[in-house]
Amino acid sequence: MAFKSQNENDAILKDLQRLIAGEVLCDEISRVIYSSAASIYRVKPLGIVQPKDKMDVIKVVKYAGQRGIPLIARGGGTSRTGNELGEGILLDFSRHMNEIQEFDPNEKWVWVQPGLILASLNKFLGPHQLFFPIDPSTRDYCTIGGMIANNSSGPHAVRYGAMRDHVLSLEVVLSNGEVIPTGPVSLRGKEIKELKAAKTLEGEIYRTIPDLLKRYSKPLKSERPFTVKNSSGYDLWGLKNSRFLDLTPLFVGSEGTLGIFTEAKLGLMPLPGRTLSGLIYFDDLDRVGPATEKILELSPTMVEILERQIIDLVRKQKSEMGSYLPEGIEALLFVEFEGVDESEIRQKFNQLGEKLLREERLAFDLKIERHEQRRIEFLGQRLDIGLSLLVEIGDGEVGAECAKRFGATVSDRLVVGDASD
Ligand SMILES: Cc1cc2nc3c(=O)[nH]c(=O)nc-3n(C[C@H](O)[C@H](O)[C@H](O)COP(=O)(O)OP(=O)(O)OC[C@H]3O[C@@H](n4cnc5c(N)ncnc54)[C@H](O)[C@@H]3O)c2cc1C
Repeated sequence: MAFKSQNENDAILKDLQRLIAGEVLCDEISRVIYSSAASIYRVKPLGIVQPKDKMDVIKVVKYAGQRGIPLIARGGGTSRTGNELGEGILLDFSRHMNEIQEFDPNEKWVWVQPGLILASLNKFLGPHQLFFPIDPSTRDYCTIGGMIANNSSGPHAVRYGAMRDHVLSLEVVLSNGEVIPTGPVSLRGKEIKELKAAKTLEGEIYRTIPDLLKRYSKPLKSERPFTVKNSSGYDLWGLKNSRFLDLTPLFVGSEGTLGIFTEAKLGLMPLPGRTLSGLIYFDDLDRVGPATEKILELSPTMVEILERQIIDLVRKQKSEMGSYLPEGIEALLFVEFEGVDESEIRQKFNQLGEKLLREERLAFDLKIERHEQRRIEFLGQRLDIGLSLLVEIGDGEVGAECAKRFGATVSDRLVVGDASD
C-alpha cells in the first residue's frame, strides 16, 4: 500500500488480528483476489477483515478511524463501478454476517445481516408465499448490504422500484464507532428532542439535517431528479416530510460512505400471481425508447433490454438459444405482465403486438415465452456474459488460484493471464 511502509502495514494487520474475533486476511493471494470485482478496476487492499459480528465492525471502524486508514465495505463484489475496492482495510460481510435474524410473515418484514445473499433470502421466504422484490441480475451473488448501499433495482423495477422503497430501517456503525438505528422519528415527539440534545455524532446529525434541508430548499426543489431510480449522490428528498425525519433513505445508495450497515429491516411482498413474458425484437436501437413508452402504458411488471453485443455472445456461446435470436437483431426487450389468468395477460400482449408491430412499426417481432425456466435462462445469460466480460483477474499462478477459489471456468471471456492488460 502506498501510504504506509511494509512494517507499518504488518503492525496494523497484527493489531487487527488481536482485536477481533473474525478473520484477518493479509496473504498475497487474498489481497489479489480482493483487488478486483466485477468492474474494470484493480486496487490491492492493505488487508481484508471478515467480521464475525457487530462488535468486530465497531472495533475495526474505531481502529481505522483513529489512524486515518480507509475502510471499504464489501458484499458480493458485483458492483460495476469498483466502489467495493480500495487501498485500506476491506470489510467482507459475506463470510460470517449473513444470517436472517428475525422474521414476521404477518407483518411482512425481515431483519437480516448485510452479508446475506439475495437468493438465500428468497429461498427462505418462498415457503411463506413471500419474497423480496428487488432483483438485480446478480441475485445469486449480491448481498443485501451491497444492494442497500447501491440502491439496487432489477428488471422488475417498473413494478417494485428500487431498494429505497423496501428498506424500512437500518442499524449503522458511524465513523466514530457509534451504532445508530434509523427509521421514522416524529418531528413533534419527545424522541427528536432527546436525539437533538445528545452530545453524540447521532445528535449532531439530527441537529444538522433539518437546518441543511431548510438552507438549501430552493436548489433541492429545482434539482430534484425525476427518475424512477436515482442512485447518484445522496437522497436528500426522502429524508423529511411534514411529520417525520428518517435517515434510512440517506444511507440507502450511500455506497458505504456515510456508515457501515450491520443490520437491515426489509419490507416483503406476497409472491406474484400468474405472469407471462414476451420477447420483442428490434432492428434499430433508436426505436426501443419510443416502444418502451408504449409498453409502460400497459403497466408491465418487467422490462429488460438485451443489446446486440450481448445477443451476439449468447448466440455464439449457447447454440440452443439460437431459435430465439435470429441474425440482425439490434436489441431485444423482455416484457412481463401479471394478471388473474393467462387470457388476461395474452390480451395485453395482443394489444402490444398491434401497437408496436402493425400501427407504429417500432419492432419487427414479438414472441410470448410461456416457460418460466426459459425466461430465467435468458436473464441468466445476461448475467453470465456480463460477468465474463467484466471479470479480469491476476496473472500466472495467482490468476489460476483465483479462478480455483471462485470456481470459475477459464474461458476466452474470463481473462486469466497477461491478456487482461
Ligand atoms: C452482470 C451484472 C449485472 C448486474 N445487474 C444489476 C441489476 O440488474 N440491477 C442493479 O441494481 N445492479 C446490477 N448490477 C450491479 C450489482 O450486482 C448490484 O448493485 C448488487 O446489488 C451489488 O451487491 P454486492 O453485494 O455485490 O455489493 P458490492 O459490490 O460488494 O458493494 C457495493 C457497494 O456496497 C457497499 N457495501 C457493501 N456492504 C456494505 C455494508 N454492510 N455497509 C455499507 N456499505 C456496504 C460497498 O462498499 C460498495 O460501495 C449488476 C452487476 C453485474 C456485474
